[in-house]
Amino acid sequence: MMRVGRVRRLSKQARFFIRGSNKAKAPKRRGRLVRLLPMILCALLIGTLSALAGDEEGASFAQERRSMVRHQLESRGISDRATLRAMQTVPRHLFVPPRYTRAAYQDSPLPIGYAQTISQPYMVAYMTEQARPREGQRALEVGTGSGYQAAILAEAGASVFTIEIVPELARSAAERLERLGYKGIKLRQGDGYFGWEEYAPYDVILVTAAAQYIPPPLLQQLKVGGRMIIPVGSPFSVQTLMLVEKTEQEVRTRSLMPVRFVPFRRTE
Ligand code: SAH
Repeated sequence: MMRVGRVRRLSKQARFFIRGSNKAKAPKRRGRLVRLLPMILCALLIGTLSALAGDEEGASFAQERRSMVRHQLESRGISDRATLRAMQTVPRHLFVPPRYTRAAYQDSPLPIGYAQTISQPYMVAYMTEQARPREGQRALEVGTGSGYQAAILAEAGASVFTIEIVPELARSAAERLERLGYKGIKLRQGDGYFGWEEYAPYDVILVTAAAQYIPPPLLQQLKVGGRMIIPVGSPFSVQTLMLVEKTEQEVRTRSLMPVRFVPFRRTE
């Protein structure tokens, strides 16, 4: 009896053990969760901190832009509201190679690879102010480079068409503009000498490389009443930034200031 009883008790324990072993998983899982909790909290904390750091970084770049607008642009006479607003808005630090992020708002041009440069903020603002892009107008840019000037024209309200001759720059600018959500910009790779006939005429044409002379197709694609800004002159010497205005009767050109731009290239 005793034996049987013991056996019974044992088998009861065994049954409990067997049944219990399934149920015992719950506390085990909870135990794993408790062990993972610090890691989960750490990940959440890191996520929150990096989001905060991102916000802080964004705020600090916005502050740098405010300072750039005040000390490099307004102090030198840039007063067009659309231009100043665009310069305050576009995140220039996202248009330069990562090693120049910290230098993005300095008063100078910066290398963007392939022997090309993003123009000095003042030059971008000056050309934009002179070109006077307005809401709903069409602007053609020759020399996309980083895409920064195109973004400024778009922020000023224009529909932008931009052409870049260096395939790698065209590709990276297209990716960047897409990533930053600039939907009103059409970009193509090619020789901007011939303009972009399909969308002509343009209210504004902006050329950001120095040509020996004004390419006739660009002149032809400028709207009557439109304005073209183009550096003209020999490569690697001082060139002249020109304002070209087209009226019903004539084409008027005016020298704006001496400048130094990278050369206008041609496909062989
Ligand atoms: N606007 C640019 C900077 C331009 S640097 C920016 O905001 O970053 C001048 C650019 O003109 C270079 O990228 C160069 O490759 C391009 N370029 C030179 N000749 C060209 C041509 N014939 N057609 C199109 N792009 C040209």
